[in-house]
Amino acid sequence: MTRARVLLLNAALGPLDYRVPAGMDVQPGSIVIAPLGPRQIIGVVWDEDGFPDVEPVGDNRLRPLIGLVDAPPLPAPLRRLVEWTADYYLAPPAAVLRMALASLSALDGPRSVIEYRASGRLPDRLTPQRAQALDRIGERQGLVRELALAGGVSDAVIRGLVKQGALEAVEVSVDTPFPAPDPDHAPPILSAEQEAVARALVAAVDAAAFHPVLLDGVTGSGKTEVYFEAIAQALRQGRQTLVLLPEIALTQPFLDRFAARFGRAPVAWHSGLRQSERRRAWRAICTGEARVTVGARSALFLPYARLGLIIVDEAHETSFKQEDGVRYHARDVAVMRAKLESCPVVLASATPAIETRRQVELGHYAELRLPARFGGARMPAIEGIDLTEDKPDRGRWLAPRLVAAMAAVLERGEQALLFLNRRGYAPLTLCRTCGHRFQCPNCTAWMVEHRLTHRLACHHCGHVMPAPRACPACDSEDSLVACGPGVERIADEVKALFPDARTAIVASDTLWSPARAAEFVADVAAHRIDVIIGTQLVTKGYHFPDLTLVGVVDADLGLEGGDLRAAERTFQQIVQVGGRAGRGEKPGRVLIQTRMPRAPVIRALLSGDPERFYAAETENRRRAHAPPFGRFAAIIVSDEDGAAAAETARMIARTAPIVPGMEVFGPAPAPLAVLRGRHRHRLLVHATRALDVQAVIRAWLGGLDWKAGTRVAVDVDPYSFM
Ligand code: ADP
Ligand code: ZN
Ligand code: ZN
Repeated sequence: MTRARVLLLNAALGPLDYRVPAGMDVQPGSIVIAPLGPRQIIGVVWDEDGFPDVEPVGDNRLRPLIGLVDAPPLPAPLRRLVEWTADYYLAPPAAVLRMALASLSALDGPRSVIEYRASGRLPDRLTPQRAQALDRIGERQGLVRELALAGGVSDAVIRGLVKQGALEAVEVSVDTPFPAPDPDHAPPILSAEQEAVARALVAAVDAAAFHPVLLDGVTGSGKTEVYFEAIAQALRQGRQTLVLLPEIALTQPFLDRFAARFGRAPVAWHSGLRQSERRRAWRAICTGEARVTVGARSALFLPYARLGLIIVDEAHETSFKQEDGVRYHARDVAVMRAKLESCPVVLASATPAIETRRQVELGHYAELRLPARFGGARMPAIEGIDLTEDKPDRGRWLAPRLVAAMAAVLERGEQALLFLNRRGYAPLTLCRTCGHRFQCPNCTAWMVEHRLTHRLACHHCGHVMPAPRACPACDSEDSLVACGPGVERIADEVKALFPDARTAIVASDTLWSPARAAEFVADVAAHRIDVIIGTQLVTKGYHFPDLTLVGVVDADLGLEGGDLRAAERTFQQIVQVGGRAGRGEKPGRVLIQTRMPRAPVIRALLSGDPERFYAAETENRRRAHAPPFGRFAAIIVSDEDGAAAAETARMIARTAPIVPGMEVFGPAPAPLAVLRGRHRHRLLVHATRALDVQAVIRAWLGGLDWKAGTRVAVDVDPYSFM
């Protein structure tokens, strides 16, 4: 090649043409360093016809490429995936490419780095900052920057500790190889039902062709055990597997379980990796040495050399939907990646999304079922508690029947789990004297009290303030009251009711790292915890044999927002959290507190007949032409200046093209009208499935101009309507 079209890591730019200097051996996919103005920038050589609309530049005006990165070229299926994702989600191709090149240090970093860790010596002068840093760093090891972040201090404090000998240098080779998992290390003896499903999955791996499968099995039926057999087969064939999990908190238990089955841990990929770990993982993935990678959704775009299998575990989880930057749905992109890589993709879930079930109905996806729990464990008994009749005491949230059930469980030395999808102590704080409510200065949202940290926090932008003693509006002291419960408040109630019970709160602010999550799992397994109080984080994946009671504190909570998927989500969450009960030999029981015992979702949950719920909910969607029968795309306009945002939103609405099969609603101020100081207005595009709605939106918005500070984001197949 003497000239090359290069997609640069700069979202504002399309691909640019360069001259390939003599002696530089590039091909499509090669990662290169290119000049851009006075700067040097990473890019990937793209196929000639990858972006047909780009005007070629004359040979005489081409600038030469600067260098070629020492890494395998991005494989063709990944290049097609970048194009498809950019096209489908209306995102800049460079923004998608950035997810593939997710470790820049892997491209040019040294092969070893110097990290630091505590030496056990104290510095001569132990300032409060140094003490704090050492305390928080603990056993951790990392780069100066990473330790500064962990310690909550500046880089200078860390360097000071190094100089004083309190932190010592460790040379870490960043590319130590990952040993391969052994497919025959400790295979389970499968039940006949599991065996049949495993055989079908193994056959799909053998066929090495695109094959999407819904693995639909009740909680505890052995879905993981069964897809492990498919992974074993991919290992035997020398092909790579990607396992996507919905939460990084689930990574550690998964790694342990995997290691028990295969003798080695898989390669982990998530946002909590240190830079050196990231680099090592990335390089191992693109050389093919990483045989099995497990990660959060960002692992989907990595440059696997020989992908042979993709698993999406808990595939119904909405956390697979990315809500900023490139707004993609990892479950859907995973299916597309499997198609481009010609390999099977397994969507595993006990509560598949209606969208996924529809694909099965249409015959696009195969379905494999595991209708019973493994080893004779029974599904838990589900009962409702009507809060309008069985009332909790004043200022309490747990009904007498739930409290009695907890008492019985604790008496027997078993464990209970209370589910409430609300972080913090109370969702709203107000002044009893003047009615003042604490609102976030940056968002249309109440500040949530976190009593453990003595702060009020906004869950949308992260703004925090110390919990005040006096009302800022009327100066009354001791006049502030907490309204409504969060998990911390329920934990207080449990402690008041059962002073001897050991409790653990599980929410994203208490379980923010894989290590913390692993500690929690170990604590529950070793019976150091009697009652778990958790948000949606606890609905997923965990397996605790002695957990026999699940209490749903407020089943109506998820129905409040009333968006398209509210009922489905509530149903899934409660089935999933209920699925944590009675997974061992002891039978489980689920108590659901509700004020609406006659709401269809609640009745479906109590009836134990999920098919009825799915049928009714699917019919509702069909009638409303909602997904999966029709399509939505949201257009979100935001600006620090409210009038400018409203003006642009109106202009977009005014210029909406008239297209059969498409309707445009709005604009309207978003329910979350202000977010991080930006005023937001939304339009909703509703289209038939047959319409190429992306092409329509691209042409429509592409012809418009708005002022520099205004942002217009498109959310294709939106999950959040906030
Ligand atoms: P799911 O993923 O469907 O919730 P799991 O794969 O986690 O189910 O299985 C539930 C529990 O049953 C796990 O502890 C698992 O190890 C155990 N289990 C499932 N199948 C088998 C088997 N064939 N042999 C031994 N244990 C099994
Ligand atoms: Zn007041
Ligand atoms: Zn905020």
